[in-house]
Amino acid sequence: MVRRSMMGLPTCDSCGHQWSWKNAFKMNFRFGGGTRCNNCGEKQYMTTKSFWKTWMILLPIFLIVPTFIAIEIAAFVVILLAIGILCATPYFLELSSEEKPMW
Ligand SMILES: [Zn+2]
Repeated sequence: MVRRSMMGLPTCDSCGHQWSWKNAFKMNFRFGGGTRCNNCGEKQYMTTKSFWKTWMILLPIFLIVPTFIAIEIAAFVVILLAIGILCATPYFLELSSEEKPMW
């Protein structure tokens, strides 16, 4: 069952319930461990595709931020930007009922 908009919060693969930002955000730190759906209780996993999409976005931040902090000038702006992007990661998340290897 695939029911999702182009840019929006992920929906449960099992019941189609749209996840809250908070629940989707938690998934970032599960590393494939899975999170239960608030609606149906079915365990949902991050799809491999969305896992890599998220990390492709986050990785440059982790590389860039220390550089900018070293320069000091733009540190505040860059940290705000990093937090902003981190907050947007739930919108890249796709859910699957099946656990698939990440690599
Ligand atoms: Zn569900």
